[in-house]
Amino acid sequence: MKKLIIANWKLKPSTLKDAQGLAASISVKAKNTVVLCPPTIYLSQIDYPNLGAQDCFWQEKGAFTGQTSALQLKDLGVKYCIIGHSERRAVGDSDGMINFKIRALLENKIIPVLCVGFGTTVEQDDLEVVDVLRGQLAAGLKDIDASKVIVAYEPVWAIGTGKNASCEHAEKVAIFIRNKYKIPKVLYGGSVNVGNAAEFLRQPNIGGLLVGGASLNAKEFNSIINM
Ligand code: PEP
Repeated sequence: MKKLIIANWKLKPSTLKDAQGLAASISVKAKNTVVLCPPTIYLSQIDYPNLGAQDCFWQEKGAFTGQTSALQLKDLGVKYCIIGHSERRAVGDSDGMINFKIRALLENKIIPVLCVGFGTTVEQDDLEVVDVLRGQLAAGLKDIDASKVIVAYEPVWAIGTGKNASCEHAEKVAIFIRNKYKIPKVLYGGSVNVGNAAEFLRQPNIGGLLVGGASLNAKEFNSIINM
């Protein structure tokens, strides 16, 4: 079965030309379903079948300097939006704000990809992780139809560090999220690369991957999306 692989380009590349070049070099006929999430400013000028945003604002109108609404993303043909990434939480996104953003996305028929996870070290045990996830998921999904939301489990210590979680741990957490919150698709993210992606994709309860750094290297990303 096809899995979902989402590329989070974060603040890269630095020019539109490079972003268009990168998008043009990613296969549009991959074995898995692929979503590219470039910086918002490039969204209208990237040609790729599935586009995602990295964040959005919950209001549709008003005096909100610097924000981008879900309505505006829909107008650009955006189909997915990452919400609650740990890098957004680190600059102030609360669970309540994340909940508002998910509602706005669903009203505009954009699929929210809710990121959850925590921890500064690999030693934090499964029980402690699950405890924090319970809080993030209960608040983030409050009064929301969870069957319309994708969840990405990303241990914070694994993001951009070159240290991935074990497949066993990620699979165990994915089972917990799927069963407890009735989430159809749970992704894993955190230092996924060409060397470890296949094993994550083989886990029955991991529905795909959220890939940061490795998605900026076309050769590596094309291998990952065709595994
Ligand atoms: C991410 O940006 O969500 C991420 C998982 O990054 P990386 O793959 O670089 O760890």
